[in-house]
Amino acid sequence: MQLEPVTDLPEIRPGDDLAALVADRATLEPGDVLTVASTVVSKAEGRTANLAEYPVSGRARELADRIGAVTGEEKDPRFAQAVLEESTELLIECPFMLTETHFGHICVNAGIDRSNVPGHDLLLLPRRPTESAERIRAGLEEHGLEDVAVIVTDTCGRPFRHGQRGVAIGWAGIAASRDWRGEPDRDGRELGVTVQSVVDELAAAANLVTGEGADGVPAVAIRDWEFGDLPESDELFRPVEDDLIRQALRQWAFE
Ligand code: GDP
Ligand code: MN
Ligand code: MN
Ligand code: MN
Repeated sequence: MQLEPVTDLPEIRPGDDLAALVADRATLEPGDVLTVASTVVSKAEGRTANLAEYPVSGRARELADRIGAVTGEEKDPRFAQAVLEESTELLIECPFMLTETHFGHICVNAGIDRSNVPGHDLLLLPRRPTESAERIRAGLEEHGLEDVAVIVTDTCGRPFRHGQRGVAIGWAGIAASRDWRGEPDRDGRELGVTVQSVVDELAAAANLVTGEGADGVPAVAIRDWEFGDLPESDELFRPVEDDLIRQALRQWAFE
């Protein structure tokens, strides 16, 4: 597998055609994967926002006050309001807001970003990242780059471990997971539970190339990688019925 940064991309503005910008700068063969940081997808989709656009509700004020009191760091209630508007549920309210976004991704602060957003206070995640990925994939095809899978990524924390890493929040032209169940291990023992989250693993690898700061590399071409002859699945976000951790959090919240 090879990962190659797509270099020389400009600062992305609302309305920019990401597929065209990438097609001018990268050679992509059928079967390659292009990862694109959600930051630039959001910028192209005009998902910047300013704190002044969020009139504060009673709930947002209460959350900001509680978080401020517990952490000792003042929390802007307008930011809490923005997080509430980008979420369908708060899994944890305090000392940080763990949210489910409208498209089903669970992350802190609804993934609202305050880094790499010149001229605005906030950058919201793309409204529907899978549709964004589909659009970029179709755009690449229009520019003669056929059958390139596209993964929209974000940097995200995780429970139990320090540090953040790349995850997939939308994808097109590739299945989310490959299913190893029923395959033998080296001793011939059948694998019983392993479903490999391919899009997350590719997103994490690509994040090593993009970095998190001022590098200016929001897109990565992944070549010579094969999905293999295994069953696929498009499930990534666990529904609550199937998620013991979320169920435990709900119980904890109401105790
Ligand atoms: P996120 O993980 O989606 O939140 O994106 P990051 O803020 O971590 O940025 C990922 C990469 O994209 C970094 O190398 C940034 O420097 C780069 N980046 C962010 N915005 C732009 C942009 O508008 N143009 C270019 N060329 N690079 C950008
Ligand atoms: Mn960012
Ligand atoms: Mn981000
Ligand atoms: Mn990042």
